[in-house]
Amino acid sequence: MSAQTIQVGAYALSFISDGYFYLDAGTMFCRIPKTVWSRFVAVDEENRMKLALNCLLIQYKGRNILVNAGIGEKFSEKFKKIYKIERQENIILSLEKAGITPEDVDFVIFTHLHLDHCGAATRLENRKSQPVFPNARYIIQKEEWESALNPNELTRGSYLADNILPLKDRLILIDNSMNLAQMGFAEIRLIKTKAHSEGHQIVEITDNNKKVVYVSDLIPTSKHVHLPYIMAWDIDPVGVINKKKELLSKFAEEDYTVLWEHDVEYGYGKIGFENGKYFAKDLVPKLT
Ligand SMILES: [Zn+2]
Repeated sequence: MSAQTIQVGAYALSFISDGYFYLDAGTMFCRIPKTVWSRFVAVDEENRMKLALNCLLIQYKGRNILVNAGIGEKFSEKFKKIYKIERQENIILSLEKAGITPEDVDFVIFTHLHLDHCGAATRLENRKSQPVFPNARYIIQKEEWESALNPNELTRGSYLADNILPLKDRLILIDNSMNLAQMGFAEIRLIKTKAHSEGHQIVEITDNNKKVVYVSDLIPTSKHVHLPYIMAWDIDPVGVINKKKELLSKFAEEDYTVLWEHDVEYGYGKIGFENGKYFAKDLVPKLT
């Protein structure tokens, strides 16, 4: 259990790191000009910003659920250079630190199937992509699975067959928002947001005392709480803004703890609202 474990009743939540990668910072802020975002984001000589790959481990009654599975290592040298992938920390080492072997993972929830959210769930063995978690079942929105198998010219680069096809016999495809009571996890609720991708979902873990949400690419870092700060990767930009509005108002009113997948500085925080603007507050530094 890491120093950053958050408890929701009997659920223990901790970050599992798959390292870091870099994306062109312009693509992380869509229409916002560099003169604005460069005030709060540092970039390298290629205009890239560093992003964390924070997966979430949920432990409950001896069962282990992983939310997202990082970027992995099935890449050519050219690809690794473009995305400047740094995996000194990685999902296997990070799970090991938490006392978990790949065999111990019972479920993997994917918020969506973009390559930086599912890549480490498979690895190459004799040049063939194979599942890393042999006993896991994979919970995904049906619409996400289908769009990942049928990408268009804009989305093709984000959905890699080697990340997705090896998992096809162990899927639990769901349709719309639902809690996981059927699997014995009544306090975990998946909320289908769409907008970032066809079947993007976020993960809430709540009880009467505490509410936690893993927002994935709907709000990739604490810097993206401000409504117009969205990514060029969103397939439906206006949809993302509307969904952020709806959910941020709930997160602020009901005092949610918001966990960020890609933030290099902060692991989690709360949401404030003042003068018509949402902002991140009570930020806790990322330790992993
Ligand atoms: Zn994404």
